[in-house]
Amino acid sequence: MSLEQTLAELVGINSVSNNSNAEIIRFLAARCESLGLRVKLFPYEDELNVEKLNMVAWAGTDAEKIEVELALVGHTDTVPFDAGWGEALRLTEREGKLYGRGACDTKGFIAAALAAAEGAELRRLKRPLALVFTADEEVGCLGAKRLAEARPLRARYSVVGEPTSLRPMRAGKGYCLAEVVVRGREGHSAYPALGASAIFRAARLVSRVESIGHELQADTRPEFEPPYTTLNVGLIRGGTAKNIIAGECRFTLEWRPVPGQAASHVVELVRAAIEDEAARDADFDCSLNVIRLDEATETLADSALVRLLEEATASTAGTIAFGTEAPQMAELGAEAVVFGPGDIRVAHRTGEFVPVEELRECARVLARAIEHFCF
Ligand SMILES: [Zn+2]
Repeated sequence: MSLEQTLAELVGINSVSNNSNAEIIRFLAARCESLGLRVKLFPYEDELNVEKLNMVAWAGTDAEKIEVELALVGHTDTVPFDAGWGEALRLTEREGKLYGRGACDTKGFIAAALAAAEGAELRRLKRPLALVFTADEEVGCLGAKRLAEARPLRARYSVVGEPTSLRPMRAGKGYCLAEVVVRGREGHSAYPALGASAIFRAARLVSRVESIGHELQADTRPEFEPPYTTLNVGLIRGGTAKNIIAGECRFTLEWRPVPGQAASHVVELVRAAIEDEAARDADFDCSLNVIRLDEATETLADSALVRLLEEATASTAGTIAFGTEAPQMAELGAEAVVFGPGDIRVAHRTGEFVPVEELRECARVLARAIEHFCF
C-alpha cells in the first residue's frame, strides 16, 4: 500500500476524540503485525465510558519489558469536523496537497512512520524500534498520560508526530490550568459592612496575579517566543445581582511554563499571594484547584536525535508553544523531538491538508532515523 493510500485509509476512519479509536487501532495493529512487529494494546475507558486504546508495536527484542532505542509516536484521534466538509473523511488531492481531517494532525505522520518501518529490514534490527499510537491527545494528551503512568515501555529516543512543517522541535512550554474560587458574604449592597464582597477580594488577587506575570518575565529562555512563562486569567465570573454584595467569584488561571521552571512554581507564587491576602483580611476565603500541570520539556541541542533530524532536514531545531506528547515520552525515558509533515496553522481547520512532498520527505527522514538508531 502506498503512503498516500495508507493516509487515505487512516483519514477514512472517523477517529474524532469523543468516539472510540478502536477501529483505527485495529487497522494499525493489523498493518504492524503484517510487518512482523509485535503488538500490545492498552485499553481504558474514558470519562464517558467510551473504550479507548493505546497501542505499542515493536521489534528487535524478545524481552518482556519493552525497551527500545527509538519510538515513533502518533496520536490516532482528531479534533471534530464540520458536517458540511465533504472531504473530511475522504482524502482528496489537489495541487500537491492532501485534504482531510487529520491529514496534517497527525495521520500524515502515522502513515509516514508505517512506511518507514515497512522499508526497514526489521529482522536485522540491532536495537529495538517501537511504533506507539495513542488516544485522546486532542483532549489533553490523556492516552499518553496513561502510558506514562503505566510505563509499559522505555525509549531512549522518541520522535513525536505533530505538524511542524518538517522542522525538528526540541523543546516546548508546559501547559497548566487552575481554578480559583474566592468567597465572600452576601448582603444588601446599601450596607457594605453587613457583607464581604468576593468580587473586591478576587480583584485584589487578580491584580497580584498580574504582578506575578510580570515577575515571571525575569526568568528567560531566549529560544522561546515570548521567552518567559506566560500567565492568563481567561475567565472570571462572580456575583448574582447589581444590588447584592457578591458571595462568590471564580476565575481561571492558565500558564505555560518554560523548561527548567517547575510547572508548580506559579502555584506556589499564587498560594503565597493568597496567604498574604489572608494575613491582611482574616476573613479572606479562597481556594485554588489545580486542574492540569503539564511540565515543559526540553531535549538538549546536542542530543543525537536533534542532530540527526537537523542534518536530515537541513534545518535548525526550534521550540513550540503548543502542547504535545513529548513530556510523556520524556517520562518514559526518552530524549524527545516533535516533528512531522504539515503546518500547525492549518491543523484543526476545515480544509486541513498535508503537502504530498512533505509527507514523502517525512517518511524518508523517519527511515533515516530508524537506520541511524536501530541498525
Ligand atoms: Zn496533534
